[in-house]
Amino acid sequence: MGSAAETTRSLHHVLHDHVLVEVFLPQEFRCNGCRTLGIGLRYRCHGCDFDLHLYCSTCPMTLPCHMHSDHPLSLLRQPQGLMMQGNGRLCNVCRDSLQGIFYACPLCDFDAHPICTQLPSTVKHAVHPQHILSLQPGGPNNCSICGFACNYWRYGCAYCHVHLHFECVLRPPRPIGLSQLQQPYHAPPLLFPLPPRPPYYPPESPRMRMPAVVDRLKAGVQAGEVFGNS
Ligand SMILES: [Zn+2]
Ligand SMILES: [Zn+2]
Ligand SMILES: [Zn+2]
Ligand SMILES: [Zn+2]
Ligand SMILES: [Zn+2]
Ligand SMILES: [Zn+2]
Repeated sequence: MGSAAETTRSLHHVLHDHVLVEVFLPQEFRCNGCRTLGIGLRYRCHGCDFDLHLYCSTCPMTLPCHMHSDHPLSLLRQPQGLMMQGNGRLCNVCRDSLQGIFYACPLCDFDAHPICTQLPSTVKHAVHPQHILSLQPGGPNNCSICGFACNYWRYGCAYCHVHLHFECVLRPPRPIGLSQLQQPYHAPPLLFPLPPRPPYYPPESPRMRMPAVVDRLKAGVQAGEVFGNS
């Protein structure tokens, strides 16, 4: 290795024949591992236009996961010829389709994108300072920030009926009127392969990509941040 190796991180990955180099590029990319979008830092083979999320380049073959604590999750991989296609399975957490590599519990039908397994288990939020909010599954409940339905996993307080979309944890809180709470849920326009049911994100604003949501939530939790205070 040349001297550049001292400042440039690189790795071999089972999904690609050439060395991948860690680079920061401002453009959005589609991860060749999990097939979801990312931005900024990635492991890349320039010659082949091959990109991996940092997490997808190092995620372990088996993963104990707080979202599914009964069993460790196994990293599965679509057959090579089918890497670009959906497999008909959806991520339990964000409800987008699963392609490429993903975690699964075969015993329980629990599937998740690698990046979605990295959501913090709890957050603190100014909208409900009395209790810590936990990452939890659930049926349709109105989000306490945007007023639209949370349909699946969300941060919530089970005692107090507080529910927050992942993205809404990162927004400044604003009061919502009763009329807004009573509006029916409308799915947003979809830009990518159709999930058959509404995904995790609130419909009223451009979608934040899950890696960005995970990065900001993790950093905030590590810093002891109470979200929504700005
Ligand atoms: Zn990925
Ligand atoms: Zn290559
Ligand atoms: Zn997901
Ligand atoms: Zn299981
Ligand atoms: Zn919301
Ligand atoms: Zn509570």
